Order: sequence, then C-alpha cells, then structure tokens
Amino acid sequence: MLSGKTALVTGSTSGIGLGIARAYASLGANVVLNGFGEAGQIEKLRAEIDETSPGEVRYDGADLSRQDAIEAMMGKAIAEFGAVDVLVNNAGIQHVAPIDEFPAAKWDAILALNLTASFHTIRLALPPMKARKWGRIINIASAHALVASPYKSAYVAAKHGIAGLTKTVALEVAEQGITMNAICPGYVWTPLVERQIPDTAKARGISEQQVIHDVLLHAQPTKQFVQVAEIAALATFLASDAAASVTGTVLPVDGGWTAQ
Ligand code: NAD
Repeated sequence: MLSGKTALVTGSTSGIGLGIARAYASLGANVVLNGFGEAGQIEKLRAEIDETSPGEVRYDGADLSRQDAIEAMMGKAIAEFGAVDVLVNNAGIQHVAPIDEFPAAKWDAILALNLTASFHTIRLALPPMKARKWGRIINIASAHALVASPYKSAYVAAKHGIAGLTKTVALEVAEQGITMNAICPGYVWTPLVERQIPDTAKARGISEQQVIHDVLLHAQPTKQFVQVAEIAALATFLASDAAASVTGTVLPVDGGWTAQ
C-alpha cells in the first residue's frame, strides 16, 4: 500500500511512534525513524524493521526541541527520498505538576517538542508534497487535545494547540491532495505513561496503584488501556488513498473517554 512512499515518524524509537513505523515499513514504505535511545539498541531496531520491509529504513537522531536539528533532519530526508510523503508528528513528553509549581523550563520544553516541532516539520514537508500533489500529515495529539486533566497544563495547552494547527493547515492544503488529521489516543501503556505515574501520585496524594485504576483507567469507560496497534491501524488508514476525504479531523481513540 505504501511502496514508493517515504514516511518520517518522529519519536519512533519507542511506544506509539515505533508501532506506526513498524506498520508503515511492513506496507512497503521507506521509513525514517527518529527519537532518543542507546545507539546500539536503535541500530538493532532499525536493522530489524529494515529486514521486514521492502523499503529502506533509516534513522535520524535529531533533537526536535531544536529548530536547526529539525531543519537538518527534514532537509536530509527530502534530499535522499525526494519528499516525505507521510509525516507523522508523534514525539512528545509530559510533566505533571500543579501550575504554581510547574517548572518554567518544563513548560518551554513541552511546548517546543509537543507543538512547535510540528510547525517546523509541517512547513518543511509541504513544498515537496505540493509538487507531488499528494501528502499525508498525521499528528499524534491526545484526548488532552479535547479535554483537560489537572496538573498537565503545558501538555494540555500544547495538545489543544495541535488540534488547532491540524484544522488550520488542513484547510490551507485541501485542494492539493494533502490531508492533515490528528489522532487523539486515550491512555496507551508506553514509557510516557509509566513515567508520569509517580508524579501523578505525588500531585494527587494517592498511591501509584490508585493512579492506574482511579485516574488512568477511570477516565476510560472501557477500563482498558488503548493498544499501540489500534493507533497504528488508524494511522495506516489515514495514510491510504481511501482516506483522501478525511481531513482536518481530530479523532479520538480513547475507549469512550471524551464521550462522557
Ligand atoms: P514514548 O515515551 O514511548 O515515546 C516518545 C518518543 O519521543 C520516544 O521515541 C522518544 O525518544 C522521543 N523523543 C522524546 N524527546 C524527543 C526530542 N526532543 N526529539 C526527538 N524525539 C524525542 O511515548 P508515547 O506514549 O509513545 O507517546 C507518543 C505520542 O503519543 C506523544 O506525542 C504523546 O503525547 C502521545 N500520546 C500518548 C498517550 C499515551 O497514553 N501513551 C496518550 C495520548 C497521546
């Protein structure tokens, strides 16, 4: 389905991004992986995904909180493959603290990665997409693009921003064969969620087990974590020709969380 196409998935050394990168590679796309991690482990991962794919799988370790690094990564991918046909803005971080104790540096880091990085990747990906009259941009937002939870001010602000960015750019490129959508996962069991459990327990004065059951799963009527494969399946559909008319949407995959 994606053979001859090139997909760049930010933050794809772990969690949701890795699941999407694997799915796209298995469908024949060239894939550019990105994200942090131990060099040997990342190379093992890259080689393993490359084995499963008829396309090429490369890795770029750009730190997406830096504009110059984003420009270098996008420039290299476009020079090597002609275009990034499918751009998935997935890299993200979280910090949990009450607003009056929220470290300013954490606010800046979350806004830079979870919102501003997507502005840069999108503006750089668009010219070759326009030249090819085909493109897919998928932003991994969050249920927190639609509703809020306490103690996550920077994350919720950035994710609501991504929803607005998605709708705006979708309108700008609607006549050019390019779609842009946001996927809004509920809680998916990944390192990002695991890492926020101790701080959430501290902020709410409850145990870590209570965070899992009374905060995380409590939000989701299904009482189940969302699976990475479910997000990858929707990202695959959105990258397909069948999804040509799906644009400017902010799509929850959240076990019913935002229906409440
Ligand atoms: P994760 O921690 O497993 O993966 C995050 C990825 O981003 C990793 O590859 C990491 O190396 C990379 N990354 C971090 N900082 C980076 C930087 N400065 N530059 C480049 N890469 C960087 O997290 P995840 O849960 O898979 O989250 C992926 C996306 O999904 C995030 O945008 C997150 O907000 C969103 N999301 C996650 C959940 C969830 O429950 N896990 C729910 C809703 C939305």
